[in-house]
Amino acid sequence: MSSIFSKIAKGELPSYKIAETATCFAFLDINPIAEGHVLVIPKKEVDYLFDIEDELYQDLMLFSKNVARAIRTIIPCERIGVAVIGLEVPHAHVHLIPIFNVHDIDFSRPKLSLSEEALKDTSNKISEAFLAL
Ligand code: 5GP
Repeated sequence: MSSIFSKIAKGELPSYKIAETATCFAFLDINPIAEGHVLVIPKKEVDYLFDIEDELYQDLMLFSKNVARAIRTIIPCERIGVAVIGLEVPHAHVHLIPIFNVHDIDFSRPKLSLSEEALKDTSNKISEAFLAL
């Protein structure tokens, strides 16, 4: 059975899409810990990040770098923090999180409650910034 994230990448489930390449897909985390919290996944379904084959891993990291650059042009922050956890969804994903300090990347913090309109607006702006890189 396909993972939730495979269905999102295929457009079978909705998401606030940021960008995609032939092999990877980026979208807003639905329960963000910061505004502009983005998930980047390989389209191929691999559970554990470090099981990904080298070429796809390089695609994922290079794409994550470019998505992070786009986020940083839109969301005020000191830098983009990176986290890989993967205990909830068994499809490898890189969390990109705008941060000012280490507490901003604390996953035990309460999730933000953002309106659909705000999420749409953020995803559109980051998406446009990605295209303009
Ligand atoms: P992890 O597996 O890294 O522990 O956490 C999974 C992350 O995926 C969480 O931050 C959670 O909010 C996010 N997530 C879970 N289900 C969905 C979903 O259906 N759509 C989106 N956009 N994010 C999700």
